Amino acid sequence: MTVSLVLFTSDLRVHDHPPLRAALEGGGQVVPLFVRDPAVDRAGFSAPNRLAFLADCIADLNQSLQSRGGRLIVRTGELVEQVVTAVRQADADEVHMAAGYSAFARGREARLRQALDAEGRRLYAHEPVSTVLPPGCIAPQGSDHFSVFTPYFRRWQSEPLRSPLAAPQKVRVPTSLRSDGIPGRSGLTGVSPGLAAGGEREGRKALRSFLAQRVETYEERHDDLAGDATSRLSAHLHFGTLSAGEAVLQASRHRGAGAAAFLRQMCWRDFHHQVLAARPETATRDYRSRDDRWRRGREAEEDLLAWQSGRTGYPVVDAAMRQLAHEGWMHNRGRLIAASFLTKTLYIDWREGARHFLSLLVDGDVANNQLNWQWVAGTGTDTRPDRVLNPVLQGRRYDPDGAYVRRWVPELAGLDGVAVHEPWRLPGLDRAALEYPDPLIAHSDGLARFRQARRLA
Ligand code: FAD
Repeated sequence: MTVSLVLFTSDLRVHDHPPLRAALEGGGQVVPLFVRDPAVDRAGFSAPNRLAFLADCIADLNQSLQSRGGRLIVRTGELVEQVVTAVRQADADEVHMAAGYSAFARGREARLRQALDAEGRRLYAHEPVSTVLPPGCIAPQGSDHFSVFTPYFRRWQSEPLRSPLAAPQKVRVPTSLRSDGIPGRSGLTGVSPGLAAGGEREGRKALRSFLAQRVETYEERHDDLAGDATSRLSAHLHFGTLSAGEAVLQASRHRGAGAAAFLRQMCWRDFHHQVLAARPETATRDYRSRDDRWRRGREAEEDLLAWQSGRTGYPVVDAAMRQLAHEGWMHNRGRLIAASFLTKTLYIDWREGARHFLSLLVDGDVANNQLNWQWVAGTGTDTRPDRVLNPVLQGRRYDPDGAYVRRWVPELAGLDGVAVHEPWRLPGLDRAALEYPDPLIAHSDGLARFRQARRLA
């Protein structure tokens, strides 16, 4: 009887899981393995919030497998060594995993293939389903990737959607294999107090609730900072507790502008992944250099610190940064405003902002984080790289009642309505008693500095 090992990486689910399906097709026993590899931490991919979410995902996957007669085998150590050891212990004939397309994942896969070849075992790397379309599967003539979103979106939409695979009914796992304990959240420090729960069941619940209650109004409400009307699926998509293809297929069954707008956002995710796969160096280097001479030195460092701690004196920026610290997640409009403020008003290098976001975001991933930062900073794929978001106007527009600011900036909780976006303008207000800082810089001064540095009229 064959024994197949399934290596789970960033696909921590039992639904729509091609490697698990393929392993089960052999009809024999299956070893579902997750390796906690310190190399992932060393590469800088781990952060307390993501480790906590990951712990939930592993526990949930284990429960799912248990309810199907199996269990998850967890091992800690260098991934290739751990897989080879488990293969030997289980006398597995083959290993199934999802192919990766990042430089890190490709290198890991090549090393694993070599090690398994030496053992006389086969590695099956299945098409990656972490995105709806695998990066590189569509490309414009003469290039290896799309550098502009709209033509990519047109092609993306015209591609047929894959039918998601059902979860297996039964998984038989060899009883003799040892597993390290299932890691929990306890013992982790630096986890945001309001971090959401991870796991496939949470991911599927979040998709169901979004499609039942919020998708119809998504188009008009997705930018409403206080409304919290978006799907909150990003961390589930990142950890693969939800299949991107399945989310898109289910959403595409809904008619109307809300579902269409949601699908467009899902396409942005694929878009960034295909850019990074073709240009891995853009994780740290400008996609399009504009010879920015970012501000450095002590004053810039102090400004960066004020931005990180939500004390810039611009209420909507500070609210967004405090939401990030509290939840390990930030509303997309908040991310745009906070990133524009750092790069275009304070004129601080996008890499500083991206690093801070990655240290906290539960959905933090290199493709979406770095390339969105570059998009905002004007070094990325934005076709209008010089656009600057005014934090006061953005606050008035996307938080018209001021509820988002009052929720996250308690110092301003006593101020009514839209005026909360410009406390310095309120007549008769005792600003010292507020204990809220004055703006770090006048937005117009920041703009002038940015224009001068970029030599714009
Ligand atoms: P929804 O509005 O419900 O959107 C549905 C899904 O579409 C999201 O879950 C996400 O997977 C995708 N999506 C939406 N907007 C974008 C976008 N602009 N780019 C790529 N995918 C998108 N997203 C991440 O997943 N990881 C990151 O590290 C990340 N860093 C960002 C940094 C900056 C500076 C900016 C401006 C955006 C960043 N985003 C990132 C994109 C976006 O802000 C989040 O995906 C979104 O806020 C997640 O919330 P949601 O799931 O409720 O989104």
